[in-house]
Amino acid sequence: MNNKCIFCKIVNKEIPTKILHEDDLVIAFADIKPIAPLHILIIPKEHIEKITDLNENQEMLAGRMIMVAKKLAEEHGTAEGGYKLLFRVGRDGGQEVPHIHLHLLGGGPLKEIIGPR
Ligand code: 5GP
Ligand code: ZN
Repeated sequence: MNNKCIFCKIVNKEIPTKILHEDDLVIAFADIKPIAPLHILIIPKEHIEKITDLNENQEMLAGRMIMVAKKLAEEHGTAEGGYKLLFRVGRDGGQEVPHIHLHLLGGGPLKEIIGPR
């Protein structure tokens, strides 16, 4: 728990948020500023800043995030059409919230705009 972290506050229910999934390791909720018709964030309950900081003992956590994203895609009817899973990592990766989060983006065809800034 990091007192200044907005996602830790969501994990601790200090910021009321509709939780779409919760288990022992992760929670999921809708992104406040969606960039796709379906935009869900899957985050570890533990405060870990970025993927770079994961250690081998946390492999299970990384797997869980992906399995929850897959389940939520199915529940929200975007599994057949397809979707994107996105981790932004650090400054150059464009990560703005320093608590690991997996973006589930779906709900229809999505643009692909990735390149140097
Ligand atoms: P990043 O750029 O770090 O990969 O993505 C951070 C995401 O968190 C953004 O898509 C942003 O809209 C979302 N976000 C930031 N603050 C909040 C919040 O308080 N609640 C929710 N639900 N999403 C947030
Ligand atoms: Zn945090």
